[in-house]
Amino acid sequence: MKVLKFGGTSVGSPERMKKLLDIIQPEERQIVVLSAVSGTTNSLVEISRALSVGDKLLAEKLIKHLHEGYKQFIQELFTTEEGRSNGQELIDYHFDLIRSFNTSIFSPIEEKIILAQGELISTTLYHFYLTEIGVRSKLLPALDFMKIDEDNEPLIDFIGKHLKDLVLAASDHNLFITQGYICRNAFGEIDNLRRGGSDYTASLIGAAIRAEEVQIWTDIDGMHNNDPRIVKGTRPIANLTFNEAAELAYFGAKILHPQSVFPAQRYNIPVRLLNTMDPQAPGTLISEVAQHQDQVTSIAAKDGITAIRIQSSRMLLAYGFLRRVFEVFERYKTPIDMITTSEVAVSLSIDDTTNLKDIEAELLDFGTVSIDSDQTIICIVGDFGIHKHGYASRVLDAVKHIPLRMISYGGSDYNISVLLSTSDKVEALRSLHNRLF
Ligand code: ASP
Ligand code: MG
Repeated sequence: MKVLKFGGTSVGSPERMKKLLDIIQPEERQIVVLSAVSGTTNSLVEISRALSVGDKLLAEKLIKHLHEGYKQFIQELFTTEEGRSNGQELIDYHFDLIRSFNTSIFSPIEEKIILAQGELISTTLYHFYLTEIGVRSKLLPALDFMKIDEDNEPLIDFIGKHLKDLVLAASDHNLFITQGYICRNAFGEIDNLRRGGSDYTASLIGAAIRAEEVQIWTDIDGMHNNDPRIVKGTRPIANLTFNEAAELAYFGAKILHPQSVFPAQRYNIPVRLLNTMDPQAPGTLISEVAQHQDQVTSIAAKDGITAIRIQSSRMLLAYGFLRRVFEVFERYKTPIDMITTSEVAVSLSIDDTTNLKDIEAELLDFGTVSIDSDQTIICIVGDFGIHKHGYASRVLDAVKHIPLRMISYGGSDYNISVLLSTSDKVEALRSLHNRLF
């Protein structure tokens, strides 16, 4: 069985929704995972924000606007009276529910219920549409099988068992439809897999039922080997290993939710990134098999990085020093991206600066602290195993005219990263592209 995931823009209009049948072959056994109609989750986030600060007027205005948009959507999606009235009843039900929170207390529990409505609406509308045109499909409620534990980790075995039971109970169907993004947490409450989480849903389902393949359908023809907005002549990468994809996921978060590589990797389920606008294009295949060796696969960049250097004579020959430094970041729930060390100093990079002032204050206990903002991580991914040679020098040679703040090599077999000032990013990406490809 295959798993096909379509993102918000792929179901973003009645026209796009109808066009999914150019790709979905209804007679093949498959599970189709849908995101909310594009813009919906953002609107639901805004509605929740208004409700959480008690701004009922604003909340009602936003709810009304979104509701009106769906009324229009239904008029264009369905062609029969029956279809329209079913669609109308469906959205009224969901919007009545959203409105009901305008008179009750509002906690993160209610917020997550609101955020779940987008996927519940899109999948049911699509199911109704298929029914109207005579295509059989079965709706599988994600809230009946998609589950995370106390640490927000997915319960693959639970997911697999419950999903298989649901599929078995409807074994006269081939086309199954389910919601991306939403799940239940350890307390049985409605929860979600974080923004962009529908990719993660698809990968989790693929892993849980040991699918033949997971297809992520977006608006780009796969993962490119460099940033196409900045560098001319980039091309989609035909094949990526799971390890390479895992290195790139953080940088290509817009194309693929960073966590989605891991479930597929664990159960060796190939993941294809494909383009709804150009279904014949080969896209990117992520699998265990390296189709290339001894080469650079891709270059990616991430802006908005802050570098922090802690210099301390107490670090010399000491143990436990790094742990104490890391604990500061842990206390402020701030992930660290890159790290480089010398004998008496450590530099690291973060992208979440919410608690930077407090972090800095605590780090001052260790020694001198210097902070550089507006930095960019450039990550070069490829096959650079520890017995290979020459890659670091080629990378550094390509950026030899640019000041580098940090260099990281050897962390894995697949990654060389450099940190530099964002003002040098464009030049660095172009120069690396020209020299490495
Ligand atoms: N609808 C959710 C979001 O906008 C999940 C997704 O689209 O992947 O984040
Ligand atoms: Mg997405």
